[in-house]
Amino acid sequence: MDRIWLSSPHMGEKEKEYVAEAFATNWVAPLGPNVDAFEKQLTTYLNVDGVVSLNSGTGALHLALEILGIKQGDVVICQSFTFAASAFPITYCKAEPVFVDSEKDTWNMDPALLKTAIDDQVSKGKKPAAIIVVHLYGMPAKMNEIIAIAASYGIPLIEDAAEALGSTYQNKACGSFGSVGILSFNGNKIITTSGGGALTSNNAELISKTRKISAQAREAVPYYLHKEIGYNYRLSNVLAGIGRGQMEVLPLRVEKRREIFEFYKNELSAVKGMYFPEEPTGFFSNRWLTTVLFSKDVWEPGTNEKVRVSLEKLNIETRALWKPLHQQPVFEACTAYNNGVSDELFETGLCLPSGSNTTRESLNLVVSEIKKCLV
Ligand SMILES: *Cc1c(COP(=O)(O)O)cnc(C)c1O
Repeated sequence: MDRIWLSSPHMGEKEKEYVAEAFATNWVAPLGPNVDAFEKQLTTYLNVDGVVSLNSGTGALHLALEILGIKQGDVVICQSFTFAASAFPITYCKAEPVFVDSEKDTWNMDPALLKTAIDDQVSKGKKPAAIIVVHLYGMPAKMNEIIAIAASYGIPLIEDAAEALGSTYQNKACGSFGSVGILSFNGNKIITTSGGGALTSNNAELISKTRKISAQAREAVPYYLHKEIGYNYRLSNVLAGIGRGQMEVLPLRVEKRREIFEFYKNELSAVKGMYFPEEPTGFFSNRWLTTVLFSKDVWEPGTNEKVRVSLEKLNIETRALWKPLHQQPVFEACTAYNNGVSDELFETGLCLPSGSNTTRESLNLVVSEIKKCLV
C-alpha cells in the first residue's frame, strides 16, 4: 500500500509553467521575475509593506535576528513548544535562548508567563532583546496580549508563521503582526517551493536591510564593496516559480486542510477522551496539521505512541507533537519558564495525516485503524 503521509507536497496546475518560464528565459539564477512575482503575491496576500523570499524559514529567522541587531550575550525569549528551528538561529547570533511555556487555549506562548519571564530577566539585568512567538500547527497565538506586553517593554517581536500561512487572527494574516515575520515553504508546509522561506515586515528599512545582507551585503557601487557581513540566503528563481503556482491555490489548500480537521473531529470526537483543539473566537487556523490529544483521565500514558506504532505498521505516518525545547538536550543549559502545559501536550498528543492531497479513502482508513487500536 502507498504510504499515507503526514503532509506531502501538493502541486497545482501552474507550477511547471512558471518553472519552464525560468528555463525559457534563462533566469536559472538566484533572483529574477519569478522571485519578484512571488514576493508580490505574498505581499498582497499578507497585506504587509514588504516580503523578501529566502532559501529557508530557518535562514529567515536568522536574518530577522540579525536585522534587529541581536548580538552575543543577548537574551532572546522563544516559545518552548515548537520545532527546534524556531530557536536554533538564536544560537547562530551567539545570543541566549530563554524559553516560555504555552497556554492551553492555542498551545502557543502564554502571555502571563511571558510577562513573568521578562520581569525576571529584567531583574537580573538582562532585558530580553527580542521575543519569538510561534503560531503552532497553524493556530494563531494570543497576539493582542503578546503584542501589548512586547510594546510595553519596548521589545521587538518576531513572528514565526512558518506553519501558519493562511491563518488569521481577528481577520489579519498571521505573518503580518510582528516587527518581523517569517514563513517557510519547506516540502511539508501548507504550500512549498521544495525548500524556501520568507521574511516579512512593515518596516521598509528592515526589508531593505534584509535584501542587502541576504545577498552578500554588497554596497551599491560598480565593484564588490562590503561594509558588513552578508549571507547567501536568497531564493532561486526556479523554485520561486513553484511558489507562484502554489500561491494561486493557497486558499484551496487551506480549505482542504480545514475540511480534513473537521472530518477527523466528526469521526473521532465521539471516542471518549479524544480531544481536538478548538479555535477561540477571532482565531482562524489553516489547520496545517490536525492534532489530537488522548486525555490523561481516560487513556493510559503512551497511548499516543501506541497508536503511532500501530498505524506505522500499515504504512500510515503519524507523529508525536513537538517535544518542548526546554526538554531538548541541546538546550539543557537554557533558562525556561514552565507551567507543565507543553509537557502534557507532548505526552498525550499525536499529529494525524493532514496533507491537502490525502484521499477520503485514506482518511477513512486512518480513522478506522485508530478506532481499532483503541479498543
Ligand atoms: C518548518 C519550521 C521552521 C523552519 O523552516 P524551514 O523552511 O524548514 O527552515 C521554523 N519554525 C517552525 C515552527 C517550523 O515549523
